[in-house]
Amino acid sequence: MNVLKFGGSSVASADLLHAVAGIVAEAVANDRAVVVVSALAGVTDILARLVDTAASGDRAWERGTLALAHRHLDCCRELGADPAIESSLRAVLGELAGVLTGLADARSASPASRDAALSTGERLAALLAALAMRRRGLDAVAVDARELVVTDSAFGEAEPDLAATARRTAALLARLRPGCVPVVTGFIGADRSGRTTTLGRGGSDYTASVLGAVLGAAAVEIWTDVSGVLAAPPCDVPHAATLPALTYGEATALARLGAKVLYPKTMDPLARRGIPVVVRNTFDPGGPRTVVNATTGADHGRPRAVTALDGGVLVTHETGPGGLRRDPMAGLEDALREHGGSLCPGRPGALPGAVGLVRGVPAATVRSASLQAAPAASESGTIRLREGVGTVALVGEGLGGNRVAGAQARLALAAARIPVLAEVDAGSDAALALVVQRGHLREAVWVLHEALLAPALEGRGAAAARPAAAGGAG
Ligand code: ASP
Ligand code: MG
Repeated sequence: MNVLKFGGSSVASADLLHAVAGIVAEAVANDRAVVVVSALAGVTDILARLVDTAASGDRAWERGTLALAHRHLDCCRELGADPAIESSLRAVLGELAGVLTGLADARSASPASRDAALSTGERLAALLAALAMRRRGLDAVAVDARELVVTDSAFGEAEPDLAATARRTAALLARLRPGCVPVVTGFIGADRSGRTTTLGRGGSDYTASVLGAVLGAAAVEIWTDVSGVLAAPPCDVPHAATLPALTYGEATALARLGAKVLYPKTMDPLARRGIPVVVRNTFDPGGPRTVVNATTGADHGRPRAVTALDGGVLVTHETGPGGLRRDPMAGLEDALREHGGSLCPGRPGALPGAVGLVRGVPAATVRSASLQAAPAASESGTIRLREGVGTVALVGEGLGGNRVAGAQARLALAAARIPVLAEVDAGSDAALALVVQRGHLREAVWVLHEALLAPALEGRGAAAARPAAAGGAG
């Protein structure tokens, strides 16, 4: 059994849905498969805007909803009219209109009603994807993940309960005709009272990994619009190469530190069970791909990828004459948690005093939390906040706290005149994160890729191509 997940750009049109059906047909020729789909490209963003528009009392949501209806119904007709699917699509669209009408009347949106509206994108997509597969001669049926994925009630960022999800999923599979492919909505679930929840933006990957985990799948394949996980973001480094293999820790660190290709929690349920994640390109199915598993290669301590994450407030407690009486970062983390912020503490020795990078809350909150956490420290020093920063991170097993790699990165950035404001703990053994000004982020990615990653890749390529010359020209 394999789980195949297709992202929004892979299911954006009838033509693409045909291509997806072809990929699924090939997969089920070898093994059973569960398919997971995202909403059609851009639809969840549109739904989020419709929620805000309706809740603000602006009637533009009516036109927006109509446009969404046309897009999905047109796609259905292009796949070949199917009255049953068309009426299912209309039912979901009617439900969306009902939710938005309620928001317009109330002039506000609760987190629960927002999730109800956002869930419609995946529900429409699953109906269309199942239709495309049937047109290709496969037996396929759309499955609403609210019947499978049991979550807590944290709307917008719900956490699945694996044991409950396992029971429901096993029951569903037992009910299906033999050979019938379930096409499951990504991103959504239901809490114990049956209320619709979502797993967080980009969370369809997580649906796939939760289902892969509870089914004991051989692999979870994430089909996207790039050829696997690349050594650097392609928008910054167009020639970045596909990484053939990554560890779970490396993939998680990359996702947490800005790489868009995988949802950060995807690896969690799979790493424990040793189920690999394979990242593949819908637009180049035979092309390069990345396998994420537990295997660590011979590259321990060597950077394998670089990524950037914009945003955050850099907090610095500069030491006064009396020095710091205690570490002001220790209490800051607790003080921030109640506001939904997170702290990456600075690596010791990065700067005199103490430093940390706060994400997820505005600077004013950081200031009050800093004072609340360390009044004693602030008496003996100065708290400085710096906005407009981000992190550039090197990812590779053994890089967390690796002084040699840290020094190499700083040297490369210094040569390019990019000031490093701090080194922070990226919360992973597989990453090293440096804080730079926002305006330097993209250049920093390029510089680190060229200085620390490209030579390693070229070296290996040259050695493979011309083994006899390896010791010669160098
Ligand atoms: N459609 C959802 C989103 O755009 C989930 C996903 O694409 O993974 O966030
Ligand atoms: Mg995604």
